[in-house]
Amino acid sequence: MLTSRILPSFKRNAFIQAKRFTSKLSASKLQIKKADALKPLVANNELVFGKSFTDHMISVDWDEKKGWADPQLHPYENLSLAPSAVVFHYASECFEGMKAYKDAKGKIRLFRPDMNMARMNRSTARIALPQFDGDELIKIIGEYLKTDERWIPEGKGYSLYLRPTMIGTQEMLGVNPPTSAKLFVIGCPVGPYYKTGFNAIRLLATTEYVRAWPRGTGEAKIGGNYAPGLLPQRLALQQGYQQNLWLFGEQHQLTEVGTMNLFILLKNDNGDLELITPPLDGSILRGVTRDSIIGLAKEWNEFEVSERNMTMPELRDLAKAGRVVEMFGAGTACVVSPIKEIGYLGEDIKIPLDPKDPNSQAGPYAKRFNDAINAIQYGEVEHPWSVVVN
Ligand SMILES: *Cc1c(COP(=O)(O)O)cnc(C)c1O
Repeated sequence: MLTSRILPSFKRNAFIQAKRFTSKLSASKLQIKKADALKPLVANNELVFGKSFTDHMISVDWDEKKGWADPQLHPYENLSLAPSAVVFHYASECFEGMKAYKDAKGKIRLFRPDMNMARMNRSTARIALPQFDGDELIKIIGEYLKTDERWIPEGKGYSLYLRPTMIGTQEMLGVNPPTSAKLFVIGCPVGPYYKTGFNAIRLLATTEYVRAWPRGTGEAKIGGNYAPGLLPQRLALQQGYQQNLWLFGEQHQLTEVGTMNLFILLKNDNGDLELITPPLDGSILRGVTRDSIIGLAKEWNEFEVSERNMTMPELRDLAKAGRVVEMFGAGTACVVSPIKEIGYLGEDIKIPLDPKDPNSQAGPYAKRFNDAINAIQYGEVEHPWSVVVN
């Protein structure tokens, strides 16, 4: 062990003791302070994504010496941080996006929350923020959901979007791993991503900017990955496209779409149907929806499922040869987002939706994945991915 070589024994013991006695994140230590006055709810038809927040929130402070403090469930309120706090300068921030659903019997459900916790711990590790026990945070989130239950909108397509976040709070301009941090969770009620059925999107294959690259931070859900995407997003919007199709490298390898994972269903060289998504090479976000679509497709066993790379010129040629069957983005916010067109080097490439319906906004496979995942999320079918909050 490195410490045994460089530290005299009394210091070594102190170091080991300090490590042993730093407290762990524990749901049993949760302290609850309820809001005096509750806010008026927002009607289902007035919900705007990410705009209104529930009455309460969770926060937990961490300190290198003491470990995790007692978690707090308290009224939703502003944070108070020093202007020198490391989060404001070096983007010591990572986050998660997950949802709580109300099923037809009124039970609260989460969808694969263990995956969000595991991913968040990978994100915090990548930016030298602390690890925490994900099962404990799920329990604390459960208490929060019961407290703010009235904010979980009812009805298919409605949910409470949860945003677990961790920030470095140390007052320090030196560029060092933070010695203090804050974990917090806020929630906002959201409606269906598509109010009137699906709405297929047009993508701009972005050749001027790169979102992520191998051995970079693309697979981490860290704030620093997102601000640099905003200018390319605006440029795409100005040209009439809804999202960026992110490419990587000289070959214009396909990676992700906006803040979603990418799926392509095509007829491969053998004439077989194949579902393709780029592999997790470090630059691709490990989407929970991505993993769920791969899992379902393998279970259905009706077509090949491949995690492999494909370039934009390959996709263009396949589309022109009529071999692209469907394309869609996948993420928690929308589940699936059908793609109808891609702008690439000045050319618009058409992607099919439903071949049987010229007015369709989604292909049959995109619809089927969407419906299967929704049915699990809302507890219409029993499935281990859906976790009831007790
Ligand atoms: C969050 C996110 C996704 C989707 O992940 P889900 O867990 O399915 O919501 C995909 N790509 C990026 C870049 C993301 O930030």
